[in-house]
Amino acid sequence: MRLLLVEDHVPLADELLASLTRHGYAVDWLADGRDALYQGASEPYDLIILDLGLPGKPGLQVLQEWRAGGLQTPVLILTARGSWAERIEGLKAGADDYLSKPFHPEELQLRIQALLRRAHGLANQPQLQAAGLLLDESRQCVRRNGEEIDLTSAEFRLLRYFMLHAGQILSKSHLAEHLYDGETERDSNVIEVYVNHLRRKIGREAIETRRGQGYRFSGEAV
Ligand code: CA
Repeated sequence: MRLLLVEDHVPLADELLASLTRHGYAVDWLADGRDALYQGASEPYDLIILDLGLPGKPGLQVLQEWRAGGLQTPVLILTARGSWAERIEGLKAGADDYLSKPFHPEELQLRIQALLRRAHGLANQPQLQAAGLLLDESRQCVRRNGEEIDLTSAEFRLLRYFMLHAGQILSKSHLAEHLYDGETERDSNVIEVYVNHLRRKIGREAIETRRGQGYRFSGEAV
């Protein structure tokens, strides 16, 4: 999953970048509201974390303009401690959730996971599951019939994306766009390698190849 983090307080941004990366998210970071307005609407983010007090353009205005322009990406706003007015204005402007500073990093992770599940119509799943596979996002592993299957970080990122988009055909370039940040060179052949690694662990039939189109994850065991 690819996230946009908009936060002008550098120490907090650094901390969040490190924590989000550890949790398997590809993150682009911006500190200016004008840059965020443009990039948030032009890159295919899965979720946006938006501070409201920003240079260039206030976060609230950025959010209003995104929504007026039709942007549907889930947005979690970061608000000043104790400012109920900010939270209310943010929610009215189209935020999907908020966190007041300071917050516990784990709370942010859990809110992101919940927002992503909700955005994909999976709000009923406290943990992502598909056809016998249960994804443990905190430990970055997957279970089948109670048996734990270890995953590398790249496999975990790919499987999480597949499980959020079960049944959909995903091209290699689409997957690369959502699994890597804007700075990383995207090589869609690498995706093929990871898909094959993943198949060896969860079963060949779980990920179907559609020639010339991409992959379709069904999660069905062999
Ligand atoms: Ca700020």
